[in-house]
Amino acid sequence: MHKVLIIGAGGVGGVVAHKCAQNSEVFGEIMLASRTLSKCDAIATQIKQLRGRDIATARLDADDVAETVGLIKDYAPALVINVALPYQDLPIMDACLETGVDYLDTANYEPRETAKFEYSWQWAYRERFEQAGIMALLGSGFDPGVTNVFCAYARDKLFDEIESIDILDCNGGDHGHPFATNFNPEINIREITQAGRYWNEGQWIEIDAMSEHRMFDFPGVGERKAYLLYHEELESLVEHVPGLKRIRFWMTFGDEYLTHLRVLGNVGMTSIDPIEFKGQKIVPLQFLKALLPDPSSLAENYTGKTSIGCLVAGTKDGKAKKVFIHNITDHAETYKEVRAQAVSYTTGVPASVGAEMMLTKQWHRPGVWNMEQFEPEPFLKRLAEAGLPWQVEDRQ
Ligand code: NDP
Repeated sequence: MHKVLIIGAGGVGGVVAHKCAQNSEVFGEIMLASRTLSKCDAIATQIKQLRGRDIATARLDADDVAETVGLIKDYAPALVINVALPYQDLPIMDACLETGVDYLDTANYEPRETAKFEYSWQWAYRERFEQAGIMALLGSGFDPGVTNVFCAYARDKLFDEIESIDILDCNGGDHGHPFATNFNPEINIREITQAGRYWNEGQWIEIDAMSEHRMFDFPGVGERKAYLLYHEELESLVEHVPGLKRIRFWMTFGDEYLTHLRVLGNVGMTSIDPIEFKGQKIVPLQFLKALLPDPSSLAENYTGKTSIGCLVAGTKDGKAKKVFIHNITDHAETYKEVRAQAVSYTTGVPASVGAEMMLTKQWHRPGVWNMEQFEPEPFLKRLAEAGLPWQVEDRQ
């Protein structure tokens, strides 16, 4: 039995806390810490009601390394699960280094002032983590996360050679709001308003944001229009899937969502450049976030399903082969189980399974690692048992 510290009490943090609380054999003691203590306490109350388990809570500003070091020293966890925002990745990694504690997250570092994400900042910690004898597991959500493990499974078990991978992310659900984001609005809008980027024949190709789309038949949802985006797992998978010629990431958006986004962009509301307003500096995107529904509040009336997976093409035994490895999750079912919508659920469950892999030493090596650098099968087995069953569908 182990002690874990979860940082971040948003939609994802709530699911991680519930899933860890369901598994007392591995997670003996749990603390949930975040910037707003009342959010931690509300989740703790829900866990007590639904699962009969007590979890500890604390207020923490994880931008402050000394404060995080203090909390880690007091609580003495075996692992810190970071499900706050990407801005907190480096300060929390610094606190883990200082205290000699393992680290896990679900999204790579982003500097606040530039809407840009890449692994370079976190990969730069490899040697220091290795020397300290501690491990960091990066991107243990769904995408990145499960999608990386699906690719590792295809690489190790299903194919002799992989030529192309298309990661396809569809939320076919309906939350009843004209415009809302399914995870932190600031991070989400920064991500999708960036230029699209994909890997082809040894080089990165950049295209205008949302300028390329295709129809795809998503199991459990049906035909949907998916747009090409840049996504962080492309960067690590290019390194770890030998011989890969092309990798792209696609996400579905409804027409209404895109119309709102275009209008908000045109009037400057998605900008991250501060403006002067009545003697105060405000960042328009942060102001917009304050107006939009909190992603965790969407859960109660959400209907429909998510369908996310990897379309992998290559050869096996000299023959062409194509498969779609995917998971389908129902928003109403996840609400019933942990009071969360499926986007938070599909992120929080893999975070708890990644944590279990580390704590049980099934995945454990000092250094900083991406998900596809470990054996996929133990993770995939536990993922299905923990609530995210997956299928391999032939797409010849
Ligand atoms: P939310 O905005 O709902 O939650 C973020 C939480 O972090 C909030 O409780 C917030 O506190 C807290 N927080 C923010 N800053 C700090 C700080 N300085 N110190 C302590 N706590 C802080 O986001 P989500 O739960 O939707 O997403 C959480 C993470 O999961 C994000 O990094 C997101 O990018 C990632 N994600 C990954 C996915 C994947 O598949 N890999 C998919 C979806 C999300 P407060 O309540 O006070 O604002």
